[in-house]
Amino acid sequence: MKRMIDLEIFHFEAAKHCQGLPTNTSNYGALVTIGWKTLSAHCDIIRLLFMWRLLSLSMLCLYKRIFISRLIEIFNSDNKKFIGPTQMLVETCKKYGLLNVLKVSVMNGEYMSMCKWKKMVIERILMRDIKRISIACSLYKVLDYLHVRNASMVSHWWQHAFRNTKYTRINRTIIRILLNVQRYGFNMCLKCNPEVINSIEHVMFQCESTKEIRELYWNNIIRVCPGQLLKEIVKMNLKDRSKFILNGFNSNYIHEWNDLYNATAVFLKYVFKQD
Ligand SMILES: [Zn+2]
Repeated sequence: MKRMIDLEIFHFEAAKHCQGLPTNTSNYGALVTIGWKTLSAHCDIIRLLFMWRLLSLSMLCLYKRIFISRLIEIFNSDNKKFIGPTQMLVETCKKYGLLNVLKVSVMNGEYMSMCKWKKMVIERILMRDIKRISIACSLYKVLDYLHVRNASMVSHWWQHAFRNTKYTRINRTIIRILLNVQRYGFNMCLKCNPEVINSIEHVMFQCESTKEIRELYWNNIIRVCPGQLLKEIVKMNLKDRSKFILNGFNSNYIHEWNDLYNATAVFLKYVFKQD
């Protein structure tokens, strides 16, 4: 268990390292923007696929016969605790609601195709994993602006940087804002009004110190933004608008919006520019 926790910590640090994020970035937030699942979810997938490969072998295989006899012993044990790899596989199936599928298959001696099992396993594990990541993110106020969607989806800003490499540095700054690495919202704005909280929406839409620059680059966004989308953006309150923009307009990555992503990246670069 301790070893798994250590590996998970290493996994979080690797996600931060790959994205150029500081170590104080939220662990789960860094996984969301790079589109990775947790390491324990990855291990569970590998474990359950290995189990099905073993069960799909011929009954002439000694390993399969031993495995099945051990499984039957566990199924008939009336919740007695066993130790060992077979028990671990049973526990993993139970965790994802797959124990009944396993029982019925073993009892009938009929196993679904590897392809079907793989699809089912990945779907269930990823769904549970994204729920876990989403709950972990909701516990941190700094991650208020991050919208957790489905698993394995790389942030729009990384997808955009992949296609427009000159934006890599700018988009890394956007990822830092999205994960609120600078802890906006906890202090007052020393640039315009020491009585106003220096929140992300304040910097993006209200701060007097960047008014001119903001209007200049916001006009560039207006120029390339689809009409209906712009209408929706204008209707939102400032916090929702900031969230919506930072999360890549809450839709899948749309290639035709490349100019919009460019204009937004430049806008964010200048309004958040540190002196
Ligand atoms: Zn201000």
